Amino acid sequence: MSKPWTTEDSEKLYTLKGWGLKYFGINAAGDLTLQPRRDPDHSIDIKTMVDDVVARGIKLPVLFRFQDVLRHRVQQLNETFRKAIAEFKYQGKYLGVYPIKVNQMREVVEEILEAGEPYQFGLEAGSKGELMAVLAMNGSDNLTIVNGYKDDTMVRLALIGVKLGKKVLVVIEKPSELDTVIRVSKELGVRPLLGLRAKLQTAGAGKWKSSSGAAAKFGLTTPEILATLQRLEAEGLKDCFKLLHFHIGSQVTEIQTIKDAVKEGARFYAKLRKAGAPLEYLDCGGGLGVDYDGTGTARDSSMNYTLREYVNDLVYTIHEVCQEEKVPEPHIVTESGRALVAHHSMLVVNVFGAIEAGSAPIEAVESPDENKAVKEMREIIKAVTPKTLSECYHDGLQLREEAYTMFKLGFLELADRAKIEMLFAHLCVEIRSQMPKAKYVPEDVLEMVKTINDQYLCNFSIFQSLPDSWAIGQLFPIIPLHRLNEEPVRRGALVDITCDSDGKISQFACHRKAGGILPLHPLKNGDPYYLGIFLMGAYQATMGDIHNLFGRVNEVHVYEDAEEPNGYYIEDVFQGQTVREVLDDIQYNEYDLAKMVKSTIDIQVKAGALKPREGVDLLNAYEAVMKEYTYIEHNGHAAAAPSNDPPAPAANGHAAPVAQPV
Ligand SMILES: *Cc1c(COP(=O)(O)O)cnc(C)c1O
Repeated sequence: MSKPWTTEDSEKLYTLKGWGLKYFGINAAGDLTLQPRRDPDHSIDIKTMVDDVVARGIKLPVLFRFQDVLRHRVQQLNETFRKAIAEFKYQGKYLGVYPIKVNQMREVVEEILEAGEPYQFGLEAGSKGELMAVLAMNGSDNLTIVNGYKDDTMVRLALIGVKLGKKVLVVIEKPSELDTVIRVSKELGVRPLLGLRAKLQTAGAGKWKSSSGAAAKFGLTTPEILATLQRLEAEGLKDCFKLLHFHIGSQVTEIQTIKDAVKEGARFYAKLRKAGAPLEYLDCGGGLGVDYDGTGTARDSSMNYTLREYVNDLVYTIHEVCQEEKVPEPHIVTESGRALVAHHSMLVVNVFGAIEAGSAPIEAVESPDENKAVKEMREIIKAVTPKTLSECYHDGLQLREEAYTMFKLGFLELADRAKIEMLFAHLCVEIRSQMPKAKYVPEDVLEMVKTINDQYLCNFSIFQSLPDSWAIGQLFPIIPLHRLNEEPVRRGALVDITCDSDGKISQFACHRKAGGILPLHPLKNGDPYYLGIFLMGAYQATMGDIHNLFGRVNEVHVYEDAEEPNGYYIEDVFQGQTVREVLDDIQYNEYDLAKMVKSTIDIQVKAGALKPREGVDLLNAYEAVMKEYTYIEHNGHAAAAPSNDPPAPAANGHAAPVAQPV
């Protein structure tokens, strides 16, 4: 007898401790909880909150933002630096900036500025648009750092900032930018505050390796830095050179890489300082990782260090180098984006159906007149044992091939073709069920087994909401929001509602035991089944697109409040896009479209095929859809017949998801 399933088992299976950083937990009812300040006495039941939001008529999918988590992240980062600075008796301050490209939402930037105020926490901009927002929003005590391509306008904007009394530092990333800065600053009669971005030899680790090293897109080489210094001296601008910057890429997975980069960067700082540059700041860029898969390893979606380790290494290394070189210790700047904002948002999707691996809407009932091939397929299934997995799989594959050939030539009836397909699927499921007892499983069988997961149909678009999952295979933690005291016995891939075969997630951040496939619960008739997709706050908000015309999702901003009945209140609700809005984005005007439909109706009415009254009703029905949410309107209710639910029909002829191996 195995022990009953507990919430601790779920915690382990979904690696919750690793990625949740104590912001998330599971309560006795089996619901996922949020501790916005990591305080177990202030816990919000996420399932209850979602039910509440749905009851208010807000349709799923919904993106939740937890502003308290954001605030807590900002405090954590700054407090950790303060501790390290005190511990190592470091002489400079920590003056971080948030690069708004990671999430430019106004509410996000405002929250970060507010939480960062006691720490003079500033902002970084990398484009004209971003700088427009940052110049207005950022306070005069904080640093404003300007990276990215700079034309005259961008430099002028930065210098306007300086005139307004703000600490706007323009970071030169290419030698040619210096000309622009010199020219525009003369024009405006303002002395700029300048930084240089050094191209380090240390290469990042992880997916963004190529942002650093000799082949990087940005940064000055050593000769370029020296030439720039000479040029500044010649122009009488040497005293403007205040900051040295480097950035070795996002999501650095290994602490060793960070140590190496900081060593190199600190040495650059010290040598330049000795060469007479009046540097005050060393800006170590972004790259602080997020442990998306919760494993604490150097894998692409993880990191093998903690925030503390990162901060200690930065402060200690810079301290050591400066002592050795006998130069003053600079203020330390970092541009952490991902690590600040990833945790504060969560996408909730409802599962509206599931296709069980190997299931079909009809049964392969034996009949006397069925083709020999069908009979043979039945025999192969009977022959499956732990020792014959490979043999039976290959026999089945070949037989199915032969059957398709016979069909093309007219020797196999439609009913028999259907049976072959169903029986082959049974064969694969049978092989999978015998697999645990097999001593040896060949590669192709393993590959096949990976493809026969259940498919859970989820109300969202990966292209809109999880662009990094689609584009670069980034993992995001996904976990049911309830029933976590019940063993998730099924294993599935998540299929979205786009008609694109890429619109699915089949790689997951879970415990090894799950084999990289998401553990899920069987759907219960009529009960909603909610999944949370976590750590969504970084880079996903403005990179998504309207593929298949699924638009921006509804958004809800939640604050913790112990006075409220469930410990939270909802401050803001932002409506997602309607059908009309996404159409309008691509030049379809709703009135034009309605006019076109109306003229077709008029023709039908004239021809007597429609009564005028019917025509009016049809037009009204058409027009009403314009105001609707672009997602499907199942709101939370799982399909009645989970196992045999036919897949959502695909409008454009792309194959709808069907659980079928190979
Ligand atoms: C993107 C970027 C960052 C942010 O990096 P994270 O890994 O999100 O912390 C910081 N600095 C520069 C120059 C960047 O391009």
